[in-house]
Amino acid sequence: MSISKEIQAFLLNNSIDRFLRYVKIWTVSDEISKTFPSTKNQFELGKLLAEELKSLNLEDVVHDKFGFVYAFLPSSKGFEKVQTIGLIAHLDTSPAVNGKDVKPVIHKNYDGGDIKFAQNTDLTLTTVDSPQLKEYIGLDIVTSQGDTLLGADNKAGIAEIITACATWQKFPELKHGPIVICFTPDEEIGRGTTKINMKKLPEVCYTMDGSEMGQLEIECFDAWGVIIKFKGLNVHPGYAKGLMINAIHIASRFLSDLPEAESPEKTEDREGFYHLSTLKGNEEEASATLIVRDFELENNKKRMEYLKSLKSKYEALYPGLKIELAFKHQYENMFTY
Ligand SMILES: [Zn+2]
Repeated sequence: MSISKEIQAFLLNNSIDRFLRYVKIWTVSDEISKTFPSTKNQFELGKLLAEELKSLNLEDVVHDKFGFVYAFLPSSKGFEKVQTIGLIAHLDTSPAVNGKDVKPVIHKNYDGGDIKFAQNTDLTLTTVDSPQLKEYIGLDIVTSQGDTLLGADNKAGIAEIITACATWQKFPELKHGPIVICFTPDEEIGRGTTKINMKKLPEVCYTMDGSEMGQLEIECFDAWGVIIKFKGLNVHPGYAKGLMINAIHIASRFLSDLPEAESPEKTEDREGFYHLSTLKGNEEEASATLIVRDFELENNKKRMEYLKSLKSKYEALYPGLKIELAFKHQYENMFTY
């Protein structure tokens, strides 16, 4: 089915207006927080989106106490029996980089040259570092000013979904089956489905959180978070022989035993990895956090076993040292469903 110029213009203008508005709302998630959602701002964005969905005549709009937004768009007349589909996106942005006070910049009619950033002159976006940019020559590109995340992951998904609802409402000639909308908090910290109400979702859902236009992914990682704690013994360095158990130094040796070939920077396609994200501590205590990813649960289980074998090895090497391993299954490969 071809889409008229008028509808194309509406899709473009409506989605960019929404996107520019949503990225300015600070919704970083917080791994340390024990609350759902992990940050209050995600709740504020959810509240706003629930109101917008109501104003677009969606039904059964719910913004629950965990920060999830659910809504239902009835089908066009005569399409009631079509398979209901769910459209999902996440409210939070990554805590890895500052996402507060985002000031989006539109680079009109991108010519393929280097993109520079007003607030970070050390940063340049080039087609050498990001070859996929070449696909977008001639289009408009939106970036941050270089001092924050943009937050396109996943505000772009939210803008796309609500724009679709607005378009279906304005152009009833675009026929559709029943649609369920779901916005989740805390995807970036692996808790996007912890409090999800599966009863509200249809059997078939699409998560609008990809990277390339037209791309459809049918599987994702099997994901684990690992916290490793090392408990040593601090003794004055002048009298330490045979006594000191230097927790942070031993932690660094332990982590050096992780195979370099199984790191994000050395793997691709369906290969799995260990990824060390933090290491902190002192002689007395140290802790490391890792994520472990693979498309196959069995491969990740082998990685857990390897970490356990390292614990035994290092506790035997350094009598008195205590190592604690905590594994958390963050999410499963969706292909297994
Ligand atoms: Zn995302």
